[in-house]
Amino acid sequence: MEQSMILRDFPILDQKVNGKRLVYLDSAATSQKPQQVIEALEKYYREYNSNVHRGVHTLGSLATDAYEGARANVAHFIHAPSESQIVFTRGTTESLNMIAHGYARPRLKPGDEIVITPMEHHSNLIPWQQVAQVTGATLKYIPLQQDGTIALQDVRETVTPKTKIVAMVHVSNVLGTINPVKEVARIAHENGAIMVVDGAQSVPHMPVDVQDLDCDFLAFSGHKMMGPTGIGVLYGKRKVLEEMEPVHFGGEMIETVELFSSTWKGVPWKFEGGTPIIAGAVGLSAAIDYLRAIGMAEVQRMDSEITQYALKRLSQVPDLTIYGPRGERGGLVTFNLAGVHPHDVSTVLDAEGVAIRAGHHCAQPLMRWLDVAATARASFYIYNTKDDIDVLIHALETAKEFFG
Ligand code: PLP
Repeated sequence: MEQSMILRDFPILDQKVNGKRLVYLDSAATSQKPQQVIEALEKYYREYNSNVHRGVHTLGSLATDAYEGARANVAHFIHAPSESQIVFTRGTTESLNMIAHGYARPRLKPGDEIVITPMEHHSNLIPWQQVAQVTGATLKYIPLQQDGTIALQDVRETVTPKTKIVAMVHVSNVLGTINPVKEVARIAHENGAIMVVDGAQSVPHMPVDVQDLDCDFLAFSGHKMMGPTGIGVLYGKRKVLEEMEPVHFGGEMIETVELFSSTWKGVPWKFEGGTPIIAGAVGLSAAIDYLRAIGMAEVQRMDSEITQYALKRLSQVPDLTIYGPRGERGGLVTFNLAGVHPHDVSTVLDAEGVAIRAGHHCAQPLMRWLDVAATARASFYIYNTKDDIDVLIHALETAKEFFG
């Protein structure tokens, strides 16, 4: 698809910020939404807003069909064997917490091991710290290599028959590293552990096939893949979903309620306590339709092309350090300009209409590993052009001049 056609679908990008054309380079934090997603949300609220599953009236049936249809659409998108293996959540963070507290916490005991990496987003790190603290299990880290990748040999040495959970980010939101999660899943399984994949930065940008990866759980967020905020996904293999306990109790998720005990519905509904995120699911489904029309292989190609161009241009800027691997990587570049705090870089860029992110990117242990307090990050999606990168480079030169 022509990029000019894509750009027309994103009305938000057609505006000036601080008198300059908006250049949005913060899609790893949250992506922009195409017209088609905004319209699907509007249509839902305008035409068939209703609660799901309970009502027998027409609007209730329409809303239920849309909500359950969204589940089937998500399943198809990640090649899940069945839509019943798709749980709607608020996002990656909630999905990972549900695994930690609903699956891991009731099972783990002292002597068991949880294996993660130092490049995890806090949402795939703190829940495991919590599980380790409560259960007495040991939290172990696969070391990072100099270029911010992991070596399978190190995975083999860290994962042991005591390991019960291996949890790993698919694409790092800081380094852009694409982790070999399929191979890691194999090593986890050889040792009798389950594999949890944080797909927050992979599912929006590349084809992800849960059966090919053979992961036990996959978590991702709708808002990073052109869907609305407040909707996310937890995919699980049937066995682990059946074993997992619900963590949200209340309406919608019950089968029967007695005065002193209750029983739950089956998978996936037992995990969706309370009125579900109906509009969010409708919006996410529209986002999936949008991405599918372009094709995820094409999305990956477009993101990769713009990222390689950004890497080339950024590496020509004097006194600029780029973090992460130089080869194949996700659609983002994290960097620092010598002597200028990333927040100051970001402020000067904002004055030029360029939106990037500065800070620790919810990865404080990784910042310590990089030996920096913070970094700047430019992240891309299919609506970014080479012209956007040229504006970024020009704005960085302005920042350099400004701070001497
Ligand atoms: N994991 C990674 C790699 C992320 O980049 C993010 C968000 O930035 C998350 C998890 C958390 O996602 P959310 O805030 O949507 O729950």
